[in-house]
Amino acid sequence: MLQIYNTLSRSKEVFKPLVAGEIKMYVCGMTVYDYCHLGHARVMIVFDMVARWLRASDYKVTYVRNITDIDDKIIQRALDNKEPIAALTQRFINAMHADSELLHLLPPDHEPRATHYIQQMQGMIGRLLEREMAYQSEDGDVNFAVRQFPKYGALSGKDIDELNPGERVAVIGGKRDPLDFVLWKKAKPEEPADTRWQSPWGEGRPGWHIECSAMSCDLLGQQFDIHGGGADLQFPHHENEIAQSEGANGKPFVNYWMHNGHIRVNQEKMSKSLGNFFLIRDVLKEFDPEVVRFFMLRAHYRSPINYTDAQLQEARSGLIRLYRALAETVGYEHPQTSNSVMKLEMIDAWKERFAVAMNDDFNTPEAIAVLFDLTSEINRLGAENPPLRLQLAHTLCALAATLGFLQRNPNSFLQSGDGVGEAAIDIQIAARQAAKQAKDFKQADAIRQHLLEQGILLEDKPGGLTIWKRV
Ligand SMILES: [Zn+2]
Repeated sequence: MLQIYNTLSRSKEVFKPLVAGEIKMYVCGMTVYDYCHLGHARVMIVFDMVARWLRASDYKVTYVRNITDIDDKIIQRALDNKEPIAALTQRFINAMHADSELLHLLPPDHEPRATHYIQQMQGMIGRLLEREMAYQSEDGDVNFAVRQFPKYGALSGKDIDELNPGERVAVIGGKRDPLDFVLWKKAKPEEPADTRWQSPWGEGRPGWHIECSAMSCDLLGQQFDIHGGGADLQFPHHENEIAQSEGANGKPFVNYWMHNGHIRVNQEKMSKSLGNFFLIRDVLKEFDPEVVRFFMLRAHYRSPINYTDAQLQEARSGLIRLYRALAETVGYEHPQTSNSVMKLEMIDAWKERFAVAMNDDFNTPEAIAVLFDLTSEINRLGAENPPLRLQLAHTLCALAATLGFLQRNPNSFLQSGDGVGEAAIDIQIAARQAAKQAKDFKQADAIRQHLLEQGILLEDKPGGLTIWKRV
């Protein structure tokens, strides 16, 4: 039975979809004015894992992740670059898709762009005005009136009257309350032509929050199951989405709110000013995308993650250990498509342990621990009982598929190299162990000698462990 931690109730709840067997999920996507960084990678990987697990659990999932392609930062960047907005956003949408593909993300079912939903946004704003939950201020902007929505603050646990002034938006342009937020921004004379849409309230463009309310409502209905995003979006973005959607539709908006934790770099907040800001494309120059995915999923999605090279190296070693067990299994065949969502047809006891972990609020660290136990079992078997070993190897591959890794040809992963040749050494050690298990000591000695000639000395330790050092 799946349990999900719901930010709204601050507790794990038994998951019940609105329609049996079907799940509708919306995740806030990128604002496309720059390349995606590690924080974006985490959101994308976390909710890819969630979608995969729900599908592997036999739910029919509709997964929507939007693209914000109109926004202050986009307008500013386009002006700085002297480039049309559509050209700028398309460039970064393409870059995001390239990153997604490298990270083995399954494409969402819908990837709506805000600029294609202006009509739906205007419809929603119109309903909010009718219901007197919004007003047009003197400067021409249409604002949401937070005081008209008594539940405001419920998601983020903030009391509207106790919000500290630092968190309050400056009162500008005749807002009735500093917390009121913009639904429709009136065009300013200096703003470019491609940022203006006609509306009953004058030429202008939507505010950021209304974009998500309109797109999710149009594609998933006025009420749906899961809404996700980074923890930093809880307030004000998600709070505002709830206020707008429930205000306009008069019914509950989302049943389960999921938020993933932050990424820190060497224990510091990732920021451009600290110079510790990592783009996905730069990280992928040094590390295999599968290692990055594995690194992200070794942590629980709600926990903060600390990004360091050492952590990435450790993730790589872990992945090598898993792939090696597959590589050494006689008759093992890897799946033909790397992004397949496999049905869970495998050895029940392992499937059960894995499912218990995943159904406990997507506890991927625990699920990965099960994969390591399974790998130990495969390694313990050695050359004994090849059919069982093969079955265990396929179970390992199928379980890992639900997390989106271990789907490549193991040898090509192990040989992919890493600049210092560690993966190559590991595979040689694996080959030597396989030779020893097959009692081909001549071959085992030849491998040892070959490595020694390359300056790598192997030392056999008790328990079948082999370590190496450079000499
Ligand atoms: Zn959003």
